[in-house]
Amino acid sequence: MENERRRASLIRECPSCHTKNRIPPEHLAETGQCGKCKAPLPPVAEPIEADAELFDSVTGSAAVPVLIDFWAAWCGPCRMAAPEVERTARNMAGRAVVLKVDTDRHPAIAERFNVTGIPNFAVIKDGRPVFQQSGYVSHTQMEEWLRNAGA
Ligand SMILES: [Zn+2]
Repeated sequence: MENERRRASLIRECPSCHTKNRIPPEHLAETGQCGKCKAPLPPVAEPIEADAELFDSVTGSAAVPVLIDFWAAWCGPCRMAAPEVERTARNMAGRAVVLKVDTDRHPAIAERFNVTGIPNFAVIKDGRPVFQQSGYVSHTQMEEWLRNAGA
């Protein structure tokens, strides 16, 4: 289940020929090219559910700022923030990458960021955390954080 979700999140279906293309984490924010028909593949425009492996691989190699959404299913404000996170991923496609970390399933990642309350948001640039804040915010605020980080 975990592996399927992870693989699915990094595989993009070609809008022209529907071939499934695997996207390396460092190219998530770039327009790629379908391996079969050469049609352009748009940059990732939705939040990616991350496990530890994907988290490290994306935050360690992304060429753009990465927004992390630490959340859990039982957390009301997290559910309120979810559409804002999705909108941020859409609006910042090509300039930033958005990861979601389920703190119940991946507590070790949350511990590394000293997450004590959720929702909690962190911005990572060049592999290093540059910003972190807890509590609900709107997509305009999230996008401002990412622009401040160079998105
Ligand atoms: Zn194609």
